[in-house]
Amino acid sequence: MTIKTIIAEPNKILREISKTVETVGKEEQNLMDDMLETMYHAKGIGLAAIQIGVPKRIIVMDISKNEEEKTPLYFVNPLIKNRNKEYSVYEEGCLSVPNYFAEIERPKTCEVEYLDYNGQKKILKAEGLLATCIQHEMDHLEGILFIDYLSKLKKTMIVKKLSKQKDKPDRIIV
Ligand code: ZN
Repeated sequence: MTIKTIIAEPNKILREISKTVETVGKEEQNLMDDMLETMYHAKGIGLAAIQIGVPKRIIVMDISKNEEEKTPLYFVNPLIKNRNKEYSVYEEGCLSVPNYFAEIERPKTCEVEYLDYNGQKKILKAEGLLATCIQHEMDHLEGILFIDYLSKLKKTMIVKKLSKQKDKPDRIIV
């Protein structure tokens, strides 16, 4: 397993639409292993393949709060079947939008059809944090970031600040 570099906004790769996975083989499983390792290392609870530069419809997640008992989830070609008409609000952040958080409203529950780590077809009824997290990650597959739901002004300000952070040389203390 390898820890990969997480791509941060602004970067046009994050706007790519990810492609459907034909078969879940060793290559895809290796990718999922790397994604999970990268996500844990960055202390995130979800990661889409495009965030490490791979435009495939693959997501990994682990929303368990317990450090000892890891409960990873793998979603290949996820598809939302049912969305609740009720909404819930979470303060969201994103590994590709470092240091920014915003309250985002999304359907409270959803039903997702996907292939798991072994390529088996599964259906999951998600609610609460799990539902929000899946929807956030699935947005990545469409090239959408949570800041896209904010006002144009707020979004522009965040992207501007993120670009400035990128332009800065690495700080060294000697
Ligand atoms: Zn994200």
